[in-house]
Amino acid sequence: MMDTHSDVIVIGGGPAGLTAALYCRRAGYSVTLFEGGLPGGKLNQTLEIENYPGTPGTEGPSLSMAMLTQAEEAGTKIVYEQVTSLRFGDGPDKAVITDSGEYTCRALIIASGSENRKLGVPGEERLAGRGVSYCATCDGGFFKGLDVAVCGGGDTALEDAQYLSEICRKVYLIHRRNEFRGSAINVERTKSKPNVELVLSATVSEIEGGDKVESIRVRRSDGSEFSLPVSAIFIAIGSTPITSFIPPGTIALAPDGSIEVDALMRTNIPGVFAAGDVRNTPLRQIVTATADGALAATSAGRYLSEVGRY
Ligand SMILES: Cc1cc2nc3c(=O)[nH]c(=O)nc-3n(C[C@H](O)[C@H](O)[C@H](O)COP(=O)(O)OP(=O)(O)OC[C@H]3O[C@@H](n4cnc5c(N)ncnc54)[C@H](O)[C@@H]3O)c2cc1C
Repeated sequence: MMDTHSDVIVIGGGPAGLTAALYCRRAGYSVTLFEGGLPGGKLNQTLEIENYPGTPGTEGPSLSMAMLTQAEEAGTKIVYEQVTSLRFGDGPDKAVITDSGEYTCRALIIASGSENRKLGVPGEERLAGRGVSYCATCDGGFFKGLDVAVCGGGDTALEDAQYLSEICRKVYLIHRRNEFRGSAINVERTKSKPNVELVLSATVSEIEGGDKVESIRVRRSDGSEFSLPVSAIFIAIGSTPITSFIPPGTIALAPDGSIEVDALMRTNIPGVFAAGDVRNTPLRQIVTATADGALAATSAGRYLSEVGRY
């Protein structure tokens, strides 16, 4: 029977969680990592990584595999299950709950990342994966030579529009405001693309199509509406930290829904740490996620030496 207790449990097998597990194992602690999806997390959505130092041009999935292998070879036990809840007692022990049961630990590191924000319009859910996408680099290739739309006004939307302009015939960039939130250089680069058309002060009100996206309804700020025939819409309107498994009133959350931590990745509950995109952070990148993971692991080690192991 599987041992259900570890010194450390890590929730999430993205860059933050895999780094935290590696550091904890190297410090000699037993570690169980829970991953409810694909190990590597959002790395799997990244075609080419240009800004993780020392790995120019690396593809996201291969960096995922390298991180996973390193964590496993260091002795991390990986359990491919979704964590559905947590339980905190009076003592130092904590429990993580999945569909298969309860697993206990002394130190808990939450590295569950974030999920793409939805538009919440008719057709979005029904046509997801049939022309509705949240990842241009993952799905753009399916729409080669076709007309597509991007929705959003930050750097991700601007970069998606630039990326798609190289593959697709025409890209409509729809943004609800008159100005973009993204960096000036990204705005300039996007505007310089001849096949990108900006549709500003406008929102998407419906995604239309039978078994795949055929058009989108766009509503201008003056209330007028029109249809744009497109084969796909790429939604890039930000992300929400994944914290739904945290019982209300336990771990403190910031106003934006991320987990509040101090500079050592400690939450308000002793022995509970958070790292990566799920925590309150001004930058959500691979380099910050791995750095957070290392810090959270080091803090977990300090906590374990104070309270003692099981
Ligand atoms: C399209 C795209 C391109 C990007 N390009 C770059 C780039 O070029 N350079 C860069 O630095 N950053 C890039 N990023 C950002 C980068 O990928 C993230 O900042 C980074 O992956 C965050 O790591 P993380 O470990 O915090 O979270 P994630 O990578 O999101 O991993 C979290 C993991 O936790 C798992 N999980 C969640 N909830 C549970 C649960 N309840 N139980 C079990 N498991 C759970 C998820 O399945 C996931 O695998 C990109 C992101 C996207 C979406």
